[in-house]
Amino acid sequence: MSDPRSTTPPIKHYEVTHTDAEWRRLLTAEQYDVLRGHGTERPGSCALLHEERTGAFVCAGCGQRLFTSETKFESGTGWPSFDTPVAGSIETMDDDSYNMHRTEVQCSRCGGHLGHVFPDGPPPTGLRYCMNGVAMNFVPD
Ligand SMILES: [Zn+2]
Repeated sequence: MSDPRSTTPPIKHYEVTHTDAEWRRLLTAEQYDVLRGHGTERPGSCALLHEERTGAFVCAGCGQRLFTSETKFESGTGWPSFDTPVAGSIETMDDDSYNMHRTEVQCSRCGGHLGHVFPDGPPPTGLRYCMNGVAMNFVPD
């Protein structure tokens, strides 16, 4: 008998879903650690930090366009930083882990963890999307 008082947490359905075993097969160990395990790459470790060509940064999990090169800026943090995401490509939620209040950024298509957004970015948005480069691929125009 099921307990009528028990509640099932809401399950968000993403357009792109895989089992954990499939994600492990599809992603590199570093990509899996960030996208599916909420890890953070070592600052300055990803070549995308220095990507200066014109093009788009897409989700390494599902290929969705997340940011374009025009919105990238050098934040000095060691992580690729952007002031504006592609409309509808990301979703944000509260992250209170590590005794810090931060806003987590995920891909809206596959739910992959991308990084965090902070309110100390440049104009026009004043936002700094602090991304893990390993969670994205660069597609030049
Ligand atoms: Zn994705």
